[in-house]
Amino acid sequence: MTEKCGVVGISLDGRDAARPLYYSLYALQHRGQESAGIVTHDGFQQHSHVEMGLVGDAFSEDDIESLNGPAGIGHVRYPTSGSVDSSCAQPFSVSFKSGSLGLSHNGNLVNADEIRDELADSGHAFTSDGDTEVIAHDLARNLLEEDLVRAVKQTMTRIHGSYSLTITHDDTVMGVRDPQGNRPLCIGELDDGYILASESAAIDTLDGELVRDVKPGELVILRADGQGFDSYQLVEQKQTAHCFFEHVYFARPDSVIDGKRVYEVRRDLGRKLWEESGIDSDVVLPVPDSGRAFASGYAEAADDVEFAEGLMKNRYVGRTFIMPTQDERERAVRLKLNPIKSTIEGKTVTIIDDSIVRGTTSTQLVKLLKDVGAEEVNVRIGAPPIVAPCYMGIDMASRDELIASDKSVEEVADEINADSLAYLSKDAVAEVLEQSRDDLCMGCVTGEYPYDIEGEEADREITRTEVPADD
Ligand code: AMP
Repeated sequence: MTEKCGVVGISLDGRDAARPLYYSLYALQHRGQESAGIVTHDGFQQHSHVEMGLVGDAFSEDDIESLNGPAGIGHVRYPTSGSVDSSCAQPFSVSFKSGSLGLSHNGNLVNADEIRDELADSGHAFTSDGDTEVIAHDLARNLLEEDLVRAVKQTMTRIHGSYSLTITHDDTVMGVRDPQGNRPLCIGELDDGYILASESAAIDTLDGELVRDVKPGELVILRADGQGFDSYQLVEQKQTAHCFFEHVYFARPDSVIDGKRVYEVRRDLGRKLWEESGIDSDVVLPVPDSGRAFASGYAEAADDVEFAEGLMKNRYVGRTFIMPTQDERERAVRLKLNPIKSTIEGKTVTIIDDSIVRGTTSTQLVKLLKDVGAEEVNVRIGAPPIVAPCYMGIDMASRDELIASDKSVEEVADEINADSLAYLSKDAVAEVLEQSRDDLCMGCVTGEYPYDIEGEEADREITRTEVPADD
């Protein structure tokens, strides 16, 4: 079970946190459409509302009114293909001897089963098979004997994998980012408090200011009076493993992640794509919406090529990727995208998208464009070929479903019937992100992962320097 999600945590000076949490979840809706939830604490009691569905459908006015308290966390969960399981909806909340805990998780643990078995042997009863409950039980157990900071530190040294967490312990709100900073998490200042969120777009929505990213291995505790936050660097690690795919596809283009503006990154990747594999054609078309920033960078670098909107998107159709069957996925692409004949007919065309996963979108688009009279359809992709699954929190399909997992670029071009196909190089991605490739997680394009995963190769040795909690 993987958790591919958006998380948020807010602590205010007196005012109820539920409404700003609700708005910020709206801003993070793209990170998860299966379920939405909020947990708040009013100083005496914890309140929770978690529901399947989109944020706008999951909460009524009465639900928001009932979520009392100036401190709280929220969560949107990404759908896994086919299954809809309410037991994994979040935030996960639990009451135990030393108080109540609420937990929102974005990421995926690689040793959750091991910890779950151990906790189950010592009497912990689990209600779901998700990672988040494992973290909650481990933390609850540590809190029986340790103060908050030490308890979190102990949990951090036990859990391996990717995690950005927002947590409430009674009315204390905190955020934790895994020691390799795989998934994003940032801190923002509001008029009357502070916010932790997966993406800065959630802070903007509340008219707040982005303060900074939470550092890999850092615990940030928001002060109860909304007067600031305290930072504890609990685990130091030499190497990071920031997910490059957040920048390529997953995050909103108007977010800033690890100091980089996502929209600018995508445009720069588009420029690189032209430098590496630009091809002359009459017109460059973005695949909306994900290909837009790439195509604008590509067309700008190309200088004398026409950039046009040749594919209209039906905004009421959701993400095609999550449809359970291939037949439905193909139909959904057709429902979602319709060509504008006048910009295509009789022309040589280059379409630009961020990525090819199963190949459904590109196969359909090449056919559509040829059907309406394109003379030639070239495909350019702003990321390297996706050849392996993601174990770190993005739903990426299994290896045998990935079109590039066992094919060369030429073979993929043949399969999707493109006149030419080129992907961006891995080095170009690292260059644009101004990171060494060793500090990025590129597991889905290399098949080598920052953690030991059964049956897969690790691309690094994990060396951890733990900082004592008292320092
Ligand atoms: P496919 O049609 O399977 O090749 O998927 C490629 C399309 O899905 C591209 O237009 C991407 O923007 C989008 N995409 C890439 N990765 C994901 C993901 N993890 N979840 C949903 N959509 C994705």
